Amino acid sequence: MKILVTNDDGIFAPGLRVLANELKKVAQVVAVAPDREQSALGTAVTLRQPLRVQRLRPVVPKVVSYAVEGTPADSVILALGKLVSGRVDLVVSGINPGPNLGDNVLISGTVGAALQGYQHGVPSLAVSIDGPDERNLRNAAKLAALLAEKIDSGSLKGDIFLNVNLPDRPLPEIGGIEITELADRAYNDTISEDDDGRRKYYWLLRDKIKTNANSRADIGAVERGNISVTPLHTDLFRKPLLIPDNLCAELFRELSNGAGAKD
Ligand code: MN
Repeated sequence: MKILVTNDDGIFAPGLRVLANELKKVAQVVAVAPDREQSALGTAVTLRQPLRVQRLRPVVPKVVSYAVEGTPADSVILALGKLVSGRVDLVVSGINPGPNLGDNVLISGTVGAALQGYQHGVPSLAVSIDGPDERNLRNAAKLAALLAEKIDSGSLKGDIFLNVNLPDRPLPEIGGIEITELADRAYNDTISEDDDGRRKYYWLLRDKIKTNANSRADIGAVERGNISVTPLHTDLFRKPLLIPDNLCAELFRELSNGAGAKD
């Protein structure tokens, strides 16, 4: 089995190192990741400038390692299309030292990288932990290795694109694993405003929303102290929206008649 590890925190991030260290016990591992922190870049792909790649000394022994001057998604596209020879059986993105829950998956670089793997037909996992405690990274890495083995043996199959989030606590304090759904909204955007003496500036801040602890939502599972595994798919925008046909006809008629906004 050959596994590509990546992340959005940069090739030297502790989460990637711990992940590669565990995964190399069960598979051949190649690491391809951005050369610096690229969090919250979501699915961004670099199309208007060249991408440079540097082969590094292995970030952990025996793991061929590349740094990409680009986004997490760029890293996966380059890895699958150019840098890694032969078939990649699994993409694992992480371990992100912060949660990726609910609608946050839409801006997460960790999930964005896994999405690229999935769109290339490779089973993909995004793995995050609900806080920065490096002592708990190993739980997440071990779970990723176990999932890799299940995928390799065929006991976990199908269109695999899983978003895994662990509570930031030692294993004995974790209750279990729940299969969850994405919370509708996991965060509120707030804006903080200040002045640097010349001009105003703003910080976009994301505050976690408290959810109903009984819901099947991913955010609730992690709050209960459980590991959340959310199967993702890419038809998330396919819910039928109730735009009546006659409204379409009306819009096009008005467009053709030059009604609406004046020049
Ligand atoms: Mn990150």
